[in-house]
Amino acid sequence: MSKKFRVRFAPSPTGFLHIGGLRSALYDELFARHHGGDFILRIEDTDQARTVEGGVENICNSLKDAGVIPNEGMWIDDNGKIIERGKHGPYIQSKRQKKHLAYAEKLIKMDKAYYCFCTEERLKDLRAQQTKNEQAPGYDGKCCDLDHKEAEQRVRKGEKHVIRLKFPQKGKITFEDIIRGKVEFDWSVIDDQVIIKTSGMPTYHLASTCDDHDMEISHVLRGEEWLPSTPKHLFIYEAFGWKPPKFAHLPLLLNEDRSKLSKRQGDVSVSEILEKGYLPQALLNFVALLGWNPTADREIYTHDELVELFNLEKVNKAGAVVNYEKFDWLNSHYIKELTDSEYLEKARLFIKTKIRDQEFIDRALLLARDRLVRINDVADEIDYLLKEKFNYKEVSLPWKKQSKKEVIQRLEALLDLVNEFSDKQALDIPKVEKEIKKLIADKEWGNGDTLWPLRVALSGSEKSPGPFELIATYGKERAIARIKDSLTHLKGT
Ligand code: GLU
Repeated sequence: MSKKFRVRFAPSPTGFLHIGGLRSALYDELFARHHGGDFILRIEDTDQARTVEGGVENICNSLKDAGVIPNEGMWIDDNGKIIERGKHGPYIQSKRQKKHLAYAEKLIKMDKAYYCFCTEERLKDLRAQQTKNEQAPGYDGKCCDLDHKEAEQRVRKGEKHVIRLKFPQKGKITFEDIIRGKVEFDWSVIDDQVIIKTSGMPTYHLASTCDDHDMEISHVLRGEEWLPSTPKHLFIYEAFGWKPPKFAHLPLLLNEDRSKLSKRQGDVSVSEILEKGYLPQALLNFVALLGWNPTADREIYTHDELVELFNLEKVNKAGAVVNYEKFDWLNSHYIKELTDSEYLEKARLFIKTKIRDQEFIDRALLLARDRLVRINDVADEIDYLLKEKFNYKEVSLPWKKQSKKEVIQRLEALLDLVNEFSDKQALDIPKVEKEIKKLIADKEWGNGDTLWPLRVALSGSEKSPGPFELIATYGKERAIARIKDSLTHLKGT
């Protein structure tokens, strides 16, 4: 039996979780669940200067709201308290600092790393010189061959230092990436990476690699921007004689013009996207398809279907364009898929009105549903239905060149008809339609010259849902009030 798959999502709490991060987390989760493995959330907070307050909460809450749930590692409970689950903790990197330091010291002993005493100033001058000479910037290895004993003494005396990895000066490193196949890097272009900073904090490279090993991670899925770091990580695995995990570098996310996805907060922050009225199921479906096409014949997948179909080898190498129009389309699809009560529960949150007739408001919300791209738009969509009065001066009640007299005649007859409905009949669209069509036929009127004035009377607008739907949404009393209002307006002009 092969070992259990263990996959981690390892974000840094440097801001809000964005859709690129969510895509990595989702692929981790799909991959782990597909193989019956573990999905672990580890927080990489070694860069304390960039760590933001509330960052961990935002990551956990965004994952929770999106429905991408790890079964191990950092989490947030129902009371909003950050917790850790599992036996490989701590799952927040800053609490593992001692382990990282011990690993760094071992690397020094094995001559795979060295103390470096170069000052900020020297490094700055070096960079300036390299830029002037049109050379790639990088550390020049000045401290690489310092005598061990001497270096240790300087450290003991408290001299400021960092620890750097001692990479080969030449030769190549090759490795297999599940998505990209064979990848090759030249050691000569990789400069000796700092693994412990002057503050004593480890850098991402050391912490992430050692934690992946200690947490028995079997697969590392992460963004393409980490591909050039992989040789550094493999160097550490090799130095310790550890078996490395398998790597898969996910394609970059691109804007429509194929530039790297801009991180304008509102567009890419998971919490803001959900607050704007996108549904988690639409977001997951959308994000899953950024770089992967499960089957060629469709775009709509449930979360469980994604788990079943997930195949890392089928993820594309090429960058994935984030197409917000497609996102809107998916979202309106999922809004239509909600049951009425699921939809109403969400939509009601956006309505502020003095009207206390909840059944009427719910009918209005349901009428608007098919046109919604985002749930939040519902307030604007039903605003006219909740208005006390319309300004009929702004619209044309007559159909084309129809006379005012004729409009009044049509609306009065319709008013009488609606008056005859029972409350229940007025809510029944087919019944309303049948009776109005019968009236039109009996009187030998036209559809346009009857239904247009009725629709404008009911909506106060020249563009609106049909008159039968409007009557059934208002209910008898409200429909009558609207028609009467329009007649008062017509008679007063
Ligand atoms: N902490 C890194 C980040 O914020 C994780 C990279 C990795 O998955 O190795 O993206």
